[in-house]
Formats: sequence, C-alpha cells, structure tokens
Amino acid sequence: MRYRSLGKTGLMVSEIGLGGEWLERHNAAEVQAVIDRCAEQGINILDCWMSEPNVRANIGAALKGQREKWYIQGHIGSTWQNGQYVRTRALPQVQTAFEDLLTRMRTDYIDLGMIHFVDEKAEFARIMNGEFIDYVRGLKAAGKIRHIGLSTHNPDVARLAAEHGEIEMILFSINPAFDMMPPTEHIDDYFAETYDASLGGIRPERAALYQICEQNGVGITVMKGYAGGRLFTAEQSPFGAALTPVQCLHYALTRPAVASVMVGFDSPAHVDAAVAYETASEAEKDYATVLANAPHHAYSGQCTYCGHCAPCPAGIDIAMVNKLLDLAKMQPETPASLRAHYESLSANAADCIACGGCETRCPFGVPVVSRMQEAVAAFK
Ligand code: SF4
Ligand code: SF4
Repeated sequence: MRYRSLGKTGLMVSEIGLGGEWLERHNAAEVQAVIDRCAEQGINILDCWMSEPNVRANIGAALKGQREKWYIQGHIGSTWQNGQYVRTRALPQVQTAFEDLLTRMRTDYIDLGMIHFVDEKAEFARIMNGEFIDYVRGLKAAGKIRHIGLSTHNPDVARLAAEHGEIEMILFSINPAFDMMPPTEHIDDYFAETYDASLGGIRPERAALYQICEQNGVGITVMKGYAGGRLFTAEQSPFGAALTPVQCLHYALTRPAVASVMVGFDSPAHVDAAVAYETASEAEKDYATVLANAPHHAYSGQCTYCGHCAPCPAGIDIAMVNKLLDLAKMQPETPASLRAHYESLSANAADCIACGGCETRCPFGVPVVSRMQEAVAAFK
C-alpha cells in the first residue's frame, strides 16, 4: 500500500480507503471480515457518514484493539431520527448523533470531523457564520475531533471551503463523468441519464478547485470514484465506453491534492479487487486512452496529468511541469513555493528539445511543446 499526506492535516493515509456505506447491509461478522482484510492490506482510513446505529456499532466492534491504526472520517450533521437518516444542522440532534458516533465506535475521538454534506453556497455561509461551526470548533478544542473537514459534491462549495482557512480537508466526489459537469446544488444532476453533448474534459471550476486545494494544503479524500458503478459498462457510462475500477482509481488519484479514494466494500474480495490497483501495470491503469477515444464526451486538448507522454529524452516529468504550469497560471504572479518546486525538478521545461515525441503519445492532443515554452516564461 502506498501512503499519501492528507494536506495540512499531516496524516499519512492509504491511497485506497474504506467507504463504510455498503457495510450497512452486513452483519457484525461480515463487517469484521471486511475491516480485518482492509487492515491486512494496509488500508488505514475509513469514512463513516452513516447514522444508522447498527453499522456504527459493527464498525466500532470491528475496530476493537486496532483503533489506533485507523484514521476515522466521521460526519457531523448526519443524524438518525425515527429510524431514518436525516441530514440536519439542528444542534440538539447533531450533538446527540455525534456523541452516538463516539460511543458506538468505542472511541473518544474522531480524526477527521466532517461537516456533513454541504452542497449549497448559502448553506456553507450559514454554517461558517453560526452555531454549527462553533460546535465543531468546540469539538476540536476538546480533542473530540482532531481536524475539521467538510464533505460536498459541489465544486463551488468545495472552493469556498478550500479558501476559508479553517477547513483542513475535503471529501469530494471525483470521477471523469462528474468532472465534466458544471457546478450544481442538486446531486441528482450528476447522475442524469444523458449529459449535454457539448461537455468534454474537466470543467474549469473543478480543475481550479484541485489546484487551489493543492496550493492551500487542503487534502482531498474522494467519494463516488466509480460514479456509483455507472462507469463500468459502456451502456451506462456517459462516455459510451467502459472504465475499470483500477482506471477510475487512477483517474481520481492523479488529480492534484487527492490523498485517498474511499471505496465501498461488500466483502474481503472487494477489498482485494481495489487494492489490486497497488500492483496494476501502467496499461491496466490507462484511463486516458479510453477517455480520449470514447464515442461521447471525449476529453481533448487538456492535460489530465496521466503521464502517457513519457518518456521524454530530456528527462522532463511532463505531467508535473503541466500541473505546476496550471497552478502558476491561476495567479497573477508565480508564488515562490511553486517556483521552488519547479526548480527542484531534475529537468524542466527549458530542457525541452521540441522532439515532439510526447505529442504523438499524448492521447488528448495536448500541445506539449508550446506548453513547455509557456512554462519557461511562467517560471523564468
Ligand atoms: S501531456 Fe497528455 S499524455 Fe502528458 S500528462 Fe498531459 S494529458 Fe497525459
Ligand atoms: S517535445 Fe520536449 S517535452 Fe516532449 S518529449 Fe520532446 S523534449 Fe520532452
């Protein structure tokens, strides 16, 4: 298992994580088997957004004796009322549900205290200027949460969070289909039967979000990495071409700032299937060729940092230079930290001999030679 730093939290999390949602449909022994398999495979982060009491208790029982080996991403505002999940900002219910989470998980702290599911900008403002954030701050001051996070599907809200300063990490939905979509406050839009035919490539708001997160040290954990499974068949995929789980994982894990993908597991075999990513070949991870040649919504002209253009005879890490260039282009002046990163590369854009080999290999038709010239200018 490879581990990545979750931005400024400093936590080193496994790049494959456990999304707890599917555990709701399993008994205690089955939950134990999944969690034990995760631990054996080196997975050390789990998300529990669910408020359902049994699944919380089953996860808590399964973590007995191994709590310190895990980072728990637990949600604040996910409550259980009259036998149902209810997202709320009403503090009495929020407090009850959070204390219930601690009790059932058999712990006195949650590593990542997530402000649960905020998809509206107006609601983000209400939360960050009201009693809800005061409650969250109190939890942190009391050591009941170690870090403050936020979960959202809307890149506009995620950007507000990334720029706020107090939110240390974000749980965000990332996959190649959602990445084409304009921001929306309605999650069902992402699962529409058909997308606007003109869509293709990563929306600028999303590309900017990932760059801002990286720049601000706001790590991302990923949900909906498989778009609910719809990317696995050509019929269901908006691209008209199927991606594999490994390709979806690779797509999410090659976005800037992403530290871990929370994958829903039903069984130890599902854990093994996702962890196969760790030993997959470059050909197996290759989402780029599928997206570039898809019958619908093909990505083109935009660097996805896939790395297909390698090898470069000048030794340039072209994907990295492109990533740093995109970051530099977001601001009027190239920040010193970015310049330092660029200058630390063993070869950089100035070493480009314009051989053109990368452009023939890039499945997205990125004009690499002119991008290298742009990078020279940006970092001169
Ligand atoms: S230039 Fe093309 S091949 Fe290289 S990282 Fe970007 S998208 Fe991938
Ligand atoms: S054109 Fe430049 S960046 Fe591309 S492979 Fe050749 S030397 Fe490397």
